[in-house]
Amino acid sequence: MPSVLITGAGRGIGRAIAQRLVSEGWTVFAGVRDEGSAPPGTSPVILDVTDPQHLADLPGALPESLDALVNNAGIVVSGPVEGLSPQDLRSQFDVNVLGLVAVTAAVLPLLRAATGRIVHIGSLSGRISTPMTGAYNASKYAVEALADAQRIELRPWGISVSVVEPGPVDTDIWRDAPSTLARAAKSLARSTQDLYSPHIGGMRRTIRFVQRSTVSSETIAEKVATVLAARRPRARYPVGRGARLQLVATSVTPTWLLDRVLAAGTGIPARIP
Ligand code: NDP
Repeated sequence: MPSVLITGAGRGIGRAIAQRLVSEGWTVFAGVRDEGSAPPGTSPVILDVTDPQHLADLPGALPESLDALVNNAGIVVSGPVEGLSPQDLRSQFDVNVLGLVAVTAAVLPLLRAATGRIVHIGSLSGRISTPMTGAYNASKYAVEALADAQRIELRPWGISVSVVEPGPVDTDIWRDAPSTLARAAKSLARSTQDLYSPHIGGMRRTIRFVQRSTVSSETIAEKVATVLAARRPRARYPVGRGARLQLVATSVTPTWLLDRVLAAGTGIPARIP
């Protein structure tokens, strides 16, 4: 039976991927921070991707050869770029970027042994940057850049590297988005809160709209299963409502126009007196 490690497998997309791969007969190692959250049929591996000790222990918790790694664990730090503290940015990058790189490095010897595959869960936010989520966008752009380099670097060992790029998915990220935004707004200095109150109000409305246009975690899990079964995995797999169309449309739209569309769509006024 092929084997896979999935990070952040206790909830959301990671859990759906784990369940899907269990149903397809994979031996699934579920990277979780709480053992009790591992999906049925998986082997839990305690893994906070930012914890050096967990990373050091990781290879010992896995078989000597591993067929696939799915880097899924991720968080969203929201708020205007002007209001991001160094700590905000660090925590965003610690999980979504440094964690992903560290987990990959820890298991690469095992992947080499099996000529395995790597799937990073990126995002459409790694292809199109939108206001009020600059930190998250930057982390997902970083994932794309790292994957592009890795894909070429790891080719000599036959290890493929693919990025699955979901649009909005119905998970806690969007369910909790109003409270995440409220927390981010509250943590801003009073003067920054005042300056950005139109943006914050616009983002609140955008969240309600986006919550109605999500796809299920199972849709993303199905795409990951496709990547793992593909004869020649592709570099990128956009997935979700209109994902491909959005990428094509944004690639042919001049930046000045795209900026205006995104500002209007997120309730950001053209001028603040
Ligand atoms: P959820 O918030 O539902 O789940 C996030 C997962 O990441 C949880 O399993 C969580 O574990 C885990 N996680 C968070 N921090 C760490 C950490 N330090 N170490 C290990 N695990 C951690 O989000 P999603 O399922 O939606 O997100 C999964 C991935 O999909 C992320 O990379 C996200 O960026 C990406 N994505 C999501 C989209 C969406 O619209 N939902 C769209 C595009 C991409 P725990 O349960 O312990 O907190």
